[in-house]
Amino acid sequence: MSKSRRPLVAGNWKMNGLKKSQAEVNKLIKKLTKQHLKCDLLLCPPATLLTRFKNAAKGSRLRLGGQDCHGQEKGAHTGDISAQMLADAGATFVIVGHSERRADHQETDRIVRAKAGAASAAGLKVIVCVGETAGERRQKKTLRVIGRQLTKSIPDKSSSSSTVIAYEPVWAIGSGKTPTTKQVAEVHAFIRRKLVQRFGDEGEGMRILYGGSVNPVNASELLAIANVDGALVGGASLKASNFWGIAASY
Ligand code: PEP
Repeated sequence: MSKSRRPLVAGNWKMNGLKKSQAEVNKLIKKLTKQHLKCDLLLCPPATLLTRFKNAAKGSRLRLGGQDCHGQEKGAHTGDISAQMLADAGATFVIVGHSERRADHQETDRIVRAKAGAASAAGLKVIVCVGETAGERRQKKTLRVIGRQLTKSIPDKSSSSSTVIAYEPVWAIGSGKTPTTKQVAEVHAFIRRKLVQRFGDEGEGMRILYGGSVNPVNASELLAIANVDGALVGGASLKASNFWGIAASY
């Protein structure tokens, strides 16, 4: 990994977490005061918990993010949340284009790009997710699909400070299955080439996270792969001990 790319370990709580879940956040904050991590640590809880966790994390190195935002600044979009609202509630990051949003809410690359643009306009760093389905991998379409998602989902104005990419094979999410190190290396090298072609030095500086069934046992192997600059973690981020175990494997 390049010296200029500080790793990022991000947790995505998805639709999990209540007020009482703050106990897990408190454990992370306590660990952060005692041990220096070699990566940035980010937690993306449900939006309902952002302000609460932000208050708890005040003065600590724990960063907070949202899991999705709308592509427009504001307006008549019942039930949606804007990037500015997330920032107002304490987020400094937001995930866009997660495969669960793409699948459950029919989010296209064009919609994801608008969300990324809205996030940057609100001053949030954005994590743009890409990844192939099992069928696409079987049909040897992995790089084609990811190439398209990168081209169409990332706004032209993106930079290394505004944008992080997460490679998440859809079939690896929540399944306990992970790609081989060779498969991860191939896709991350491909993403790096694409980013450098389009964004030059900024593309070299963008962090590329791996996501999909990362846990404290497999983390060190996955995080050591070239061009893997951190992890996006779902299930294993719900317990502070597991999440910390992944981050501490740096
Ligand atoms: C995710 O949904 O972003 C994810 C990586 O989930 P899990 O770690 O549970 O596979």
